[in-house]
Amino acid sequence: MQKSRKRKQQLRLKPGESETKPAKISIPTKHDPYPTHPRPTPEECLAVRDSLLACHGFPQEFAKYREQRRNLSSLVIDTDAQNGVKSETLDTGEESVLDGLIKTLLSQNTTEVNSQRAFANLKSAFSTWEDVHAAESKCIEHAIRCGGLAPKKASCIKNILSCLLEKKGKLCLEYLRDLSVEEIKAELSHFKGVGPKTVSCVLLFQLQLDDFPVDTHVFEIAKAIGWVPEGADRNKTYLHLNQRIPNELKFDLNCLLFTHGKLCRKCTKKGGNQQSKESCDNSCPLLNYRVNL
Ligand SMILES: [Zn+2]
Repeated sequence: MQKSRKRKQQLRLKPGESETKPAKISIPTKHDPYPTHPRPTPEECLAVRDSLLACHGFPQEFAKYREQRRNLSSLVIDTDAQNGVKSETLDTGEESVLDGLIKTLLSQNTTEVNSQRAFANLKSAFSTWEDVHAAESKCIEHAIRCGGLAPKKASCIKNILSCLLEKKGKLCLEYLRDLSVEEIKAELSHFKGVGPKTVSCVLLFQLQLDDFPVDTHVFEIAKAIGWVPEGADRNKTYLHLNQRIPNELKFDLNCLLFTHGKLCRKCTKKGGNQQSKESCDNSCPLLNYRVNL
């Protein structure tokens, strides 16, 4: 498992190298629904990343994922230097892939505070995922009620656990760490209720791979600054941005755009005439990029 993980990370650290390797590990999808739309350019992605970083700093809520990526990168470098000597320090504090998937599912259509509370309630009500699997749906619903859409989400969770147990014989998704991005997408998409955004979040945060999830905030900003053509839908925006944004910028840029979208009223449908508590709101660093003021 570790070996494959490092192999993939090594490839990610050397962007040009994938062309000389089998197609298995490459950019997430070859299909761009807007091939003639020339934005964003790599230079623009870098400039936006740097501007947002200067404005907000790196968002604290994503700091632990960034640290895990750093650890993984330094582990690869260490391992290279030691010619294959294995370190066991990687997994400290790392969420399980299954935890990450369920946490992301619970974040659909609700606020962060409520979804985090729902996940914490679920984890404290049941000691293991086996217990959740064995529980009545009503008990799961009760535990996650504060996150909204409880019957639907409970049914999704039960379904994922049942499918996983049937297919793999245990409630564990760690085997995904050995698969390519495309294989992981195919595996996770089989679960009912798991859409492209959830898959993309698991890739980016739990599996430390380079993908670019498009949530409401990212979608609104991408449209406002012309990174997708007018009338673009969210899924096509996801496909386009994953093609255009350099892999090494995806993580930082995604965390920063998400955070900026939450804080800046000028970049969202909320309109630009309301004051925000955020200090940089009056001089949004993305104003120069906006196309439809
Ligand atoms: Zn803004």
